[in-house]
Amino acid sequence: MQIGKWDESIHTEIEQLKRIATAKKIKASDVVVDYDTQTAQIKGRDGIYDVALDDCSCMDFSVKQRPCKHIYRLAMELNLVNDLPEFNKEAQAEFNKTIPEEIDRFKKLYENGAISLDKLVKIANALSS
Ligand SMILES: [Zn+2]
Repeated sequence: MQIGKWDESIHTEIEQLKRIATAKKIKASDVVVDYDTQTAQIKGRDGIYDVALDDCSCMDFSVKQRPCKHIYRLAMELNLVNDLPEFNKEAQAEFNKTIPEEIDRFKKLYENGAISLDKLVKIANALSS
């Protein structure tokens, strides 16, 4: 997906995927898009952010200098986020078969002291959900 000035490869980084996921959860009533200028005003925790495809007035953007959830939400409103992987039932079924081994792998990491019990439980819950 081509969004503003950003290289496409940035959008597959895990931290960016997390931002894409949270962008979907922004309430529609908090988003006002100007389609002519491809900008938006998005209500957030600390007020209203001015959002463009290359820039946002929020703290996350100013610190990371990477697309924040507001930029992704604007991109979604402009139909620029259109090539995310499709959910696939067969791929899910294949993955589900591997869950017990995945959980065993993290159980060993827990038993070796590499991860906390809390982290093991979160991973097991996420894999089983
Ligand atoms: Zn932002």
